[in-house]
Amino acid sequence: MSENEFIIELKNLGINPTPEILNKLNLYCDYLLEYNKTTNLTAIKTKEEVYLKHFYDSITIVKAIDLNKVNNILDIGTGAGFPGMVLKIIFPNLNMTLLDSNNKKLKFLECLSKKLDIKVTLINERAENYIKNHREEYDVVTSRAVADLRILSELAIPFLKVNGFFIPLKAEVVEELKASKKILTCLSSKVINVINFNLPINNHKRTILIIKKEKKSNDKYPRSYSKILKDLKN
Ligand code: SAM
Repeated sequence: MSENEFIIELKNLGINPTPEILNKLNLYCDYLLEYNKTTNLTAIKTKEEVYLKHFYDSITIVKAIDLNKVNNILDIGTGAGFPGMVLKIIFPNLNMTLLDSNNKKLKFLECLSKKLDIKVTLINERAENYIKNHREEYDVVTSRAVADLRILSELAIPFLKVNGFFIPLKAEVVEELKASKKILTCLSSKVINVINFNLPINNHKRTILIIKKEKKSNDKYPRSYSKILKDLKN
């Protein structure tokens, strides 16, 4: 996707990026590709792919929620900043927390945020450890390409305020959704919308879920990662 195609597709999503935003994304893309030559951050190697598979794909979350009305948001397993860093660039109003257990990806994000003069909270921890002092803190939790929905829901929902939304960005999700019914009930949460669409250009299938937390989470969630995985096998 060229920058021009990106701008057109953003307009279709109701977003008119300023020259400053476009400049920041351009610098982000160059820096990511450069850094990636020596540190493995992403399998994507060209500018066109970064604009489609990282930038545009991250922004499709606006199909699910008006980010102008959101205060704080947590991106679990953000990697090189997807979707969280891209969303912070487009919506500077957001209080954005980017969390990842991978030290080298957090180091990249630290350098990037300085380079672009962007204020984000960077957390180098596993989600199941960071939860300890951050229960019921966020309006929205998002996550892309991190884990099965059953695992992700258990990690993400305890971070949400009551009436907050967990919005995972997924590819194929039908089976995961069926299998997640039980854990979502345990977490007093329900799927209120499933948005299916295809990416432009490569036509890849995408699904965005909107999961609403209706009551406070039981303090026993999330269980240890090994316990969650063990349950998955039964
Ligand atoms: N979200 C990014 C994207 O879409 O490009 C990165 C996806 S990458 C495949 C998955 C990331 O999740 C990795 O950077 C990994 O370190 C992180 N991760 C996996 N489990 C995690 C956990 N329990 N807590 C924090 N980070 C986690």
